[in-house]
Amino acid sequence: MFDALKRLRRQRVLRKSALPDALWSDACRALPFLASYTPDELARLRDICVLFLDAKGIIGAQGHAVTPLQRTIIAIQACVLVLNLDLDLYEGFENIVVYPDEFIPDWEWEDEAGVVHRNDAPLAGEAMPRGPVVLSWRDIEASADWDRAQMNLVIHEFAHKIDMQDGDANGCPPLPGDMSGDAWRATMRGAYADFCKRVARGERTAIDPYAAESPGEFFAVLSEVFFAEPLLLRCSYPEVYREFARFYRQDPASRAAPSPAR
Ligand SMILES: [Zn+2]
Repeated sequence: MFDALKRLRRQRVLRKSALPDALWSDACRALPFLASYTPDELARLRDICVLFLDAKGIIGAQGHAVTPLQRTIIAIQACVLVLNLDLDLYEGFENIVVYPDEFIPDWEWEDEAGVVHRNDAPLAGEAMPRGPVVLSWRDIEASADWDRAQMNLVIHEFAHKIDMQDGDANGCPPLPGDMSGDAWRATMRGAYADFCKRVARGERTAIDPYAAESPGEFFAVLSEVFFAEPLLLRCSYPEVYREFARFYRQDPASRAAPSPAR
């Protein structure tokens, strides 16, 4: 019953709201990694973006005026993660706050153990547990083109949000019933230990060494790689790639692999 109501509500939103063609094309052009998506995937992504933008506020901070193009660019990258999942994974928060540049957070938050955290270093983005996603527009813009930046801020922060659906961002998101938590944790633990060892011995890793910060950051950084440079993840950590493909219900490396037929 609830699913039927949800479906009806979503159909109503899609009937009354739309992303204009020119705006959609401009936003897709700003995100080169979308070039390998099929027309069907892009059409579904566009619908999910409409639903996302209906459900979430994207609010400028420190005088930053968020343009329709900026809203769309943010929505697309957030929705790439849930292209084959349910948008409900983004339940529990209402807003995305966009600063013009890096920001120093003036908030404190308490983790599940009751420890209060405060961050006083400038940040490009932050996903707050049960709170908003906060982003720097300058860094969103700089990381839209993966080939240039080798990072993607929006995918990173929304991967944290998904991870936080079942508590802290610990690198283990809420898995569907057909996936084994033990297998996920064992795979991630092994890959994380290997990556930390490589970073510690000063190896120049193709994957951002920031992933060695914590299991939560490892999941968020590897999610960026999974969506924006999937062949790198499949080649570096094939077991992680397989778990991610099952979790996100996508196989982006098959999209990115050159097809011999073409
Ligand atoms: Zn992070």
